[in-house]
Amino acid sequence: MDTLTLNNGVRMPALGLGVFQTPPDETTAAVSAALELGYRHIDTAAAYGNEREVGRAIHESGVPREDVFIETKIWISDFGYEETLHGFDKSAAKLGVDQIDLLILHQALPSDFDRTLGAYRALERLLADGKVRAIGVSNFMVDHLTRLLDATSVVPAVNQLEIHPYFQQHAVLDFDDKHDILNQAWSPIGGITHYPGWGEDRKSVLEDPVVTGIAEAHGKSPAQVLLRWGLQQGRSVIPKSTKRKRIAENIDVFDFELTPAELAALDELETGRRGGPEPEDVTLASFGKPIPEA
Ligand code: NDP
Repeated sequence: MDTLTLNNGVRMPALGLGVFQTPPDETTAAVSAALELGYRHIDTAAAYGNEREVGRAIHESGVPREDVFIETKIWISDFGYEETLHGFDKSAAKLGVDQIDLLILHQALPSDFDRTLGAYRALERLLADGKVRAIGVSNFMVDHLTRLLDATSVVPAVNQLEIHPYFQQHAVLDFDDKHDILNQAWSPIGGITHYPGWGEDRKSVLEDPVVTGIAEAHGKSPAQVLLRWGLQQGRSVIPKSTKRKRIAENIDVFDFELTPAELAALDELETGRRGGPEPEDVTLASFGKPIPEA
């Protein structure tokens, strides 16, 4: 497994298992399968409602705690300094751990950026206290990052963003690279382009002829090609599946290389169409929801 070194020296497995939309009653089995198959990095979130089941799988796996990189996210409803400190307590208790490897803000809250800054300052406090090993953000655009860097002292280690060939966000990626913020791709195999039940007009990037053509040329699957495309550009990728066979397939990506021409052909698939919510429009009124106590 390749690892990436974060801007504070902490090492993180480049590929992890995502668990967004993994129902709690399927989460322990999915994470257990992943750990058996060699995954050592799990990406969850307070808002996913499955931190407890992630923690259970890790504890039952027999894999030493220090060998598993746990990443989770503070939801916007828990933004603000004191609220985010308490958000850590809730997540840590559900996960059953004293320390979280990477704790990130799930979204910016542009309509109340002071509250976003308060939340980030709480992450800085948790980092200084050794309760987390690294801190970061998710879905932060250039404007949000600029305001954050101006007002706080610790540069985020990671920015987790929607990145797949149909939506590549070059401006944010370049900004992150310039500031030593690691780009981490959510929907790295384009999940948001083909989530079941998310609208008929979505066109799955897994079925794109350019992707399937490259997959055939390597004797690999379309998902494996998309994961290589991210990894070869230095990104972290966190594919989600609840199916053991696919969990195995998604980590079996370290035995082939895409050529520069193949990488360029995938880059050309950009559509400019964001699949997820517009980060600037995220408000408590539209997206807020209480995060239960542990
Ligand atoms: P992914 O790109 O990981 O795709 C997941 C989808 O693809 C699921 O429908 C899954 O179905 C299917 N799938 C998985 N493996 C394969 C395969 N090998 N072949 C074909 N289909 C496959 O999308 P996600 O949006 O889930 O992103 C990954 C992770 O990123 C999330 O789980 C979460 O941890 C994080 N995330 C973060 C967000 C944020 O705002 N910060 C937003 C969205 C995601 P099945 O389970 O049935 O196999």
